Amino acid sequence: MRETTDILISGGGVAGLTAACAFGSAGFRVICVDPAPPVTAADDDGADLRTTAFLQPSIPVLRASGLWSRLEPHAAPLQVMRIIDAGGPEPEARLTRDFDAADISDAPFGWNLPNWLLRREMVARLAELPNVSFRPGVGFARMLPREAEALVTLTDGTQVSARLVVGADGRTSPVREALGIAAQTIRYGQKALAFAVAHDLPHQNVSTEVHRTGGPFTLVPLPDRDGRPASAVVWMDRGPEIARLATLPVPAFEAEMTARSAHVLGPLTLISRRSVWPIISQLADRLSGPRAVLIAEAAHVVPPIGAQGLNMSLADLAALLALAESHREDPGKAAVTDAYHRQRHLEVRARVTGIDLLNRASMVGAPALRDLRAKALETLHSVRPVRQILMRAGLGAGRPG
Ligand SMILES: Cc1cc2nc3c(=O)[nH]c(=O)nc-3n(C[C@H](O)[C@H](O)[C@H](O)COP(=O)(O)OP(=O)(O)OC[C@H]3O[C@@H](n4cnc5c(N)ncnc54)[C@H](O)[C@@H]3O)c2cc1C
Repeated sequence: MRETTDILISGGGVAGLTAACAFGSAGFRVICVDPAPPVTAADDDGADLRTTAFLQPSIPVLRASGLWSRLEPHAAPLQVMRIIDAGGPEPEARLTRDFDAADISDAPFGWNLPNWLLRREMVARLAELPNVSFRPGVGFARMLPREAEALVTLTDGTQVSARLVVGADGRTSPVREALGIAAQTIRYGQKALAFAVAHDLPHQNVSTEVHRTGGPFTLVPLPDRDGRPASAVVWMDRGPEIARLATLPVPAFEAEMTARSAHVLGPLTLISRRSVWPIISQLADRLSGPRAVLIAEAAHVVPPIGAQGLNMSLADLAALLALAESHREDPGKAAVTDAYHRQRHLEVRARVTGIDLLNRASMVGAPALRDLRAKALETLHSVRPVRQILMRAGLGAGRPG
């Protein structure tokens, strides 16, 4: 027997689960599938130990999805983004510049939350929505677009007739492949190490990026852990260096990370496992096909700089939701899928390009280039209107760079 639905979401990562909550809260019938069941506890095998900094423009879509009231009590606010250049002969802060949200807004830049906790709250929200069927353990296998529907076959053999298929199935997206859409990929030979630390000095809601070589070392505030200030860390560097750091005995690792942090929060203590993530930039050639769209990492991947990745994904979702709501009778018609591509592709391309440039600047090793980077930071920061434009662009209110 064939099932029918308004929206079939392929992918139950953070983006796919948010999309299921958003479309479900808006009253659409939704089926969301993922072959890998979500891991919803920090200590379980395979838990995603990264954190996500949700920037201001992402909050309305989380609110409309019925998620923000669940997430807010666990979130650490980010009031100041501090950029430190430690590119001199010694790994010490030689230039520190603050971007304070108060310059452009009454609210913080954003709020930081652990990814495993996002999954826990999203799965709980889905259970409240009778019009959403979440099917962990089942994947998207193939699709056949037709005039009025897409016929989707799932990996358990189920046939689904959907008005719209949303590919939220990650950087090697099976939906993108089924649509025959190519993607352009940039590889940097870089990886990221993600983990959490405790420290004696309070972070004062300041998120700090320390630049030296190989990529940024970023500390993002977390709520206190066992009475001690805590932060999430993303440490980017060349692949072999990250492989070495990932297996270093803890005392040696703590000494190296404290030095790499330029001692900004005093000695750092490791309070989680270390997880390794490959770093690429990637952009799909198109964001839509017949009866289907691509969102999140299925559409674009960026290095984790300036908390852009998932925030771009929520901007995809906000645009798609608005279009679908204005065509409720058929949210998968060409008027929706084509408009979605037109609205998002240029904006996403500009952002992928901007973050690629920032990442390359952050990787430079030659002392002269490191000096140039420090000079550029100083110049951009010193002019108040330029600084405000950069902050608004970082939030998604304009294009970066
Ligand atoms: C170290 C690091 C730190 C980051 N920090 C931030 C941050 O602070 N702020 C921010 O905005 N972004 C951040 N990002 C980016 C953010 O984590 C990603 O954008 C986000 O996790 C990707 O989510 P996704 O749901 O698109 O992809 P994924 O998490 O990859 O989810 C894709 C899902 O699709 C599923 N799937 C695969 N095949 C199928 C199939 N056949 N059928 C159905 N489902 C399938 C997979 O099982 C998976 O669950 C960071 C990234 C990294 C690497």
